[in-house]
Amino acid sequence: MENSLLAIFAHPDDEAFGTGGTLSRYASEGKKVYLVCATRGEVGEISDPSFATPETLGMVREGELRCAAETMGVSELVFLDYRDSGMVGTPENEDPRAFINAPQEEVVAQLVGIIRRLKPQVIATFEPFGGYGHPDHIAIHNHTVKAFHAAADGSQYPQHGPAWQAQRLFYTAIPRSFFLDMRRQMTELGIDTSDLDRFDDPSMGWPEEKIHVWMDVASTVEYKWDALHCHRTQFGPGNLFRRLPESQVKQLMGIECFSLAWPEPEPGLRLPGLFT
Ligand SMILES: [Zn+2]
Repeated sequence: MENSLLAIFAHPDDEAFGTGGTLSRYASEGKKVYLVCATRGEVGEISDPSFATPETLGMVREGELRCAAETMGVSELVFLDYRDSGMVGTPENEDPRAFINAPQEEVVAQLVGIIRRLKPQVIATFEPFGGYGHPDHIAIHNHTVKAFHAAADGSQYPQHGPAWQAQRLFYTAIPRSFFLDMRRQMTELGIDTSDLDRFDDPSMGWPEEKIHVWMDVASTVEYKWDALHCHRTQFGPGNLFRRLPESQVKQLMGIECFSLAWPEPEPGLRLPGLFT
């Protein structure tokens, strides 16, 4: 059977930051890589006003994600057509089209249909905190976990095709050590690190003992870099990841981390990759 990977995220650019090297690497090895994006990132930042306006940003970011998907070798990109809910506590949270306001049944039904149609061996999404607590990241995590199990249960959503049990569910996770490493390198070069000081708190970032795959993506980090540049409204010169010299950022980005969520991992488990 053909090996395939389905990544499920909330906004254009989520896929590139956390998994750009991994998606590119598996695509380059001939595996099918599929990507689902819940929104078009309509209320994200705009790095340069000549790239988009708040009115056009969703359309522009759809184009940016299509560019990134092509760069990484993604076979199929699916939008769920919800609206970006914005950061917690912002007025966009109240928009009836916002992803966080979508009924769980409705989102899970769509994801179950996609999983049963594409039949991936491996599914990946955010960890429960969504990296930094964005409400859409947390929502896509919750819906994906539910859909992963519902897709395998033929009694649920029978109108969406026969049951499909994917072999593994992974969470993408960035360990605290990544941010501390990045901060140390910035400090050495006299670069302002105030955006990273919250990682002094040991509860920030994903614990290393819960990382099961340290994916070496040095061989495809250039694709990841190019995919990030597709997202030009987000990856402007002011971006945190562009403050260090390019070679140092690429080195930091050359490892991507995943936590096995299903089947339940044995303590201390380490896997060489996402596939069996
Ligand atoms: Zn996001």
